[in-house]
Amino acid sequence: MKQLFTLSVLAVAALTGANAADFPIKDKPITIVVPFTAGGPTDRVARDLAEAMRKPLGANVVVENVAGAGGTIGANKVAKAPQDGHTVLLHHIGMATSPALYRKMPYNTTEDFEYLGMVNEVPMTLIGRPTLPATTYKELAVWIEQNKGKVNLGNAGLGAASHLCGLLFQSAIKTDMTTVPYKGTAPAMNDLMGGQIDLLCDQSTNTTSQIEGKTVKAFAVTTAKRLTTPALKHLPTMQEAGIKGFEVTIWHGLYAPKGTPADAVTKINAALKAALKDPEFIKKQEALGAVIVADKRVDGAEHKKFVASEIAKWGPIIQAAGVYAD
Ligand code: ASP
Repeated sequence: MKQLFTLSVLAVAALTGANAADFPIKDKPITIVVPFTAGGPTDRVARDLAEAMRKPLGANVVVENVAGAGGTIGANKVAKAPQDGHTVLLHHIGMATSPALYRKMPYNTTEDFEYLGMVNEVPMTLIGRPTLPATTYKELAVWIEQNKGKVNLGNAGLGAASHLCGLLFQSAIKTDMTTVPYKGTAPAMNDLMGGQIDLLCDQSTNTTSQIEGKTVKAFAVTTAKRLTTPALKHLPTMQEAGIKGFEVTIWHGLYAPKGTPADAVTKINAALKAALKDPEFIKKQEALGAVIVADKRVDGAEHKKFVASEIAKWGPIIQAAGVYAD
């Protein structure tokens, strides 16, 4: 019996060894799952990253959008995906806010993933439909006050970054708005431009070109400091606009299902590091207001520590706001 056990352990070890050496599996693409709709800000980061990781990985890298429930459906899909390194998740701050926003989670954020490293940090912008009578934040505040009970605000569902930002905004100005959930902020942006919704808080990776093209109105950025991106540097911070202590920065990280072989994890991490140094990737991201992570959080262990600190930071804030979903 003892001998049998030893044999099976050896067999598993041999198998794991074979898998590890084979990564990436010849002709099999690596899929980056984006837990939101195509054409949105998370999707944008993923598509730029996929391009930059192709060469260092020596494999085709494709993006799959698995949208819904504020990102938890896509994240759950990856948590339960085959552990061969060929399915990874690109997720944002929702990774850390969902555990507080959902009473029941289909996966365990800290236990069910291999942390592959952080990618970037992205500011959010508070934007409005082009037909909104307000042009500055001050005018917007007056308009909101005059239209109490009638203002609606789009988001990408509970647990999404836009949900978190909208939540903090409503709580800061002590005004409830009607929230309109979408499966990502790409469709929310379409409705905002069409005037079906009034306001949206979204990552600059999705709003910069609309702000530049004046197809939406922009009121403020959510970072503590003004941005240096040419198209966004005129925007006041929420704090300058008068909302004390308001600060939200979105970050993106890469994850694989727990149990992915160490060799695949190491290779993906190395490819991520190479992508983060790729001048083309840096240029594209910076033009959209994103800042590439250049510190130790590009290592899995530090990335995991950071997410744990974000869970600890946002949990009490969300609990105090009294919002949750079943
Ligand atoms: N920006 C969205 C959010 O609110 C997600 C997306 O569509 O990428 O989290």
